[in-house]
Amino acid sequence: MPFFIALLLILLGLFIFWLGRRAQTEAGLPIGRVIYSDTRGWQALEKPLFSRTHRLTGKPDYLVQQGHEVIPVEVKSAHAPPDGPRRSHILQLAAYCLLVEETYRQRPKYGIVKYADQMFAIDYTPTLQTALLDVIAAMRDDLARTEAQRSHNEAARCVHCGYRHACEERLA
Ligand code: SF4
Repeated sequence: MPFFIALLLILLGLFIFWLGRRAQTEAGLPIGRVIYSDTRGWQALEKPLFSRTHRLTGKPDYLVQQGHEVIPVEVKSAHAPPDGPRRSHILQLAAYCLLVEETYRQRPKYGIVKYADQMFAIDYTPTLQTALLDVIAAMRDDLARTEAQRSHNEAARCVHCGYRHACEERLA
C-alpha cells in the first residue's frame, strides 16, 4: 500500500510540474534550459545600466562576454524552484537583456539565471520582450493610481516587505 501512495504522490508531483510549465509556456514566457558555464570569466558590474527609451534602470549581477555578445546574468542565492525559474526572475532577466541591448547596441540571444544549484539560459525572444513591456506599462499605470491590489499570494514576500506596516492587503 505505501508503494501505491508513493507512486500516486510522484505522479501528482509530475502532473503539477507539467501544469506549471504549460501555464508558463501559454503565457509566452520561455521555461529556460539548464546550462553549465565556467563562472571564472564573469565580470561584476559596477554601475547600473540605463535605458532612456524605456525609462528603465537595473544592474545585472554579471555581464558575460561570449564572442561579440554580452550576456546578462542574475544570481539568486536560493535553490532553483522545482518547476524552473520563477516568472518574476525571467522578467527581471528580460529587463536586463533590454538594458544590454540599448547600452551595447546588440541584442543578447539569451540571459542566464543562476541559482545555488542550477543555471538556466532564458531565450530573449520578441514574445518575452513584449511580455516585459506589458508588465512595465501595467506597473506605470499602478504607480499613477492611488491604490493597487495585491498581485500575489506569497506570505513570505509580505513578511519582508518595506510597506508592510501601511499595507491593508498584507498576508500573515
Ligand atoms: S505587504 Fe502589501 S505591498 Fe508588501 S508585498 Fe505584501 S501585499 Fe505587497
